[in-house]
Amino acid sequence: MRLTKFFLPTLKDDPVDAVTVSHKLMIRAGMVKQLTSGVYSTLPLGLIVFRKVENIIRQEMNAIGGNEFLLPALSPHDLWSETGRMEDYGDLMFRIKNRELVLCPTHEEVFTSIAKPSLISYKDFPQVWYQIQSKFRNEERPRAGVLRARQFTMKDAYSLDATWEGLDKSYNDMAQAYRNIFTRCGLDFVIVSAHSGAMGGSASEEFMVPSSAGEDNIVISEDGNYTSNIEVAVSFVEKNDRKNSDLPFEEFHTPNIKSIEELAGFLNITDKTRLAKSRVFVNPSKEEKGEDEYVLVLVRGDDEVNELKLQNLFGINIRPAHNEELAEITGADAGSIGPVNLKVLKNKKVKIIADLLLEDSDELVSGANKNDHHIKNIDIKRDVPGIEFKDLRIVKEGELTSDKKSKLKITKAIEVGHIFKLGTKYPEALGAKFLDADGKENPIIMGSYGIGVERTTASFIEQSNDDKGIIWKGEIAPFQINLICLSGKTDEVKDLAEKYYLELTEQKKIEVLYDDREEVRPGVKFNDSDLIGIPVQLIVGERNLKDGNVEIKIRQTGEKIIVSKDDAVSKAIELIG
Ligand code: ATP
Ligand code: MG
Repeated sequence: MRLTKFFLPTLKDDPVDAVTVSHKLMIRAGMVKQLTSGVYSTLPLGLIVFRKVENIIRQEMNAIGGNEFLLPALSPHDLWSETGRMEDYGDLMFRIKNRELVLCPTHEEVFTSIAKPSLISYKDFPQVWYQIQSKFRNEERPRAGVLRARQFTMKDAYSLDATWEGLDKSYNDMAQAYRNIFTRCGLDFVIVSAHSGAMGGSASEEFMVPSSAGEDNIVISEDGNYTSNIEVAVSFVEKNDRKNSDLPFEEFHTPNIKSIEELAGFLNITDKTRLAKSRVFVNPSKEEKGEDEYVLVLVRGDDEVNELKLQNLFGINIRPAHNEELAEITGADAGSIGPVNLKVLKNKKVKIIADLLLEDSDELVSGANKNDHHIKNIDIKRDVPGIEFKDLRIVKEGELTSDKKSKLKITKAIEVGHIFKLGTKYPEALGAKFLDADGKENPIIMGSYGIGVERTTASFIEQSNDDKGIIWKGEIAPFQINLICLSGKTDEVKDLAEKYYLELTEQKKIEVLYDDREEVRPGVKFNDSDLIGIPVQLIVGERNLKDGNVEIKIRQTGEKIIVSKDDAVSKAIELIG
């Protein structure tokens, strides 16, 4: 590709609104351009890279027997109402105003509707179906450029099986394909166990790229044997011991004490493990006129409630109670709520659950459900009848792994891929069944597997850059060689660069970006080249050519090599690696 014909609008300065490195560099290198918040146009350089990522994905999907589809972005309301996801997705789903259509955020429903009339006998399985297509999500806060956009390209794949063993095999094949894909894309990644979110289903893992630009927190043990999204991470922490003083609980006055920190200060203690923190959540009823369930959740004062663990117990719609609801349910404000003397106004049902670390606790202090009052000497099992204990806390850095063999480290990471065993949720909701060998009807068993194309690319850039720009490596580099012509007073330089260009592209089939611009200063050419980050720069200029030489620069190391003009092509090819 000749730069004089290529649309490459590079920028010298960082865009003002960009914070993450990949966002800045993708804009500056002319890969993408924002149209409106969370919506990006892909420019020619960006498209070359995205297509390379897509082709790696396509090859690995085909290698495990994948069938490529292309489904519409639009789909009818009915399909989503039948599975309940019209509500589950809520505001995240774009809805068309003048038709009963939505813009699909994912495609389980549509693929299931295709499977339903066609996969009807156990002999029709297994199947792996996929597509590489645009997804639409009305993200509340699009951020970091294409890392979280409102329209993006996803490879979504679905395995369809007749047996649970079949699902295990499909899932494992897909996991291996994902490892191949992200390795070929040059990413440094970890696989963590994950929460299955709005999808429903059981086993689920995410492919995570450690990066400060990430929105997820992942937990990795020091010995590397345990990896998990913090959303579902567990650890070993000693439970609170018992004092066995058998003191009756007692209310006391705590004027203006609203937080655990203030309470600890008031009581003049630093150890917050015996201060029970209470939060109230609302689990909306599934039926239209049904009663909502209220859940009072207790964790130790030094802990935080893990809302994803709550979702796993109660469903994805559980949410923190608003202040008015709190007052209505408990009679008190957020800082004075507790499990004892809970009057429960207006006949609301309140379930009380506590974190496992509190299971044997006595001498606890918690809110009295009366503003400015707390209760001490709570013996949780004695004083809170019917209380249940579950793992509800967020793990912390430095805690022991469950097997006590290692310690936890917490790192920010970007989720680039997600695989999970969905089970029968969508086939059941949509009536997609087949006849097994005994002539019995069963729902199809599904797995669902996603990769974000632009996010994968941006994640690579997060991990491979320097202060000059992007550093492409391996299969996803947009071009392999950047041929730079520093045109001189005579035609000699230009003639040689032209000769190299033809030889590299036509004979050697190398992907070359040829900077053949005439009126551009060398400094500008070098800066552009470093910014767009092609692995090898082949520089033809008057100064070296006087001695019969040209220069080769390796983008990653900055190393410069002077070679004779006759060896330049073979040396440049050798250095591509
Ligand atoms: P997140 O938790 O980041 O919102 P998700 O768990 O909702 O993502 P999935 O439904 O698992 O995402 O989608 C599969 C893949 O699609 C993700 O692993 C990610 O690579 C990509 N992806 C999801 N949402 C976005 C987005 N808003 N912008 C760009 N890529 C996205
Ligand atoms: Mg996900």
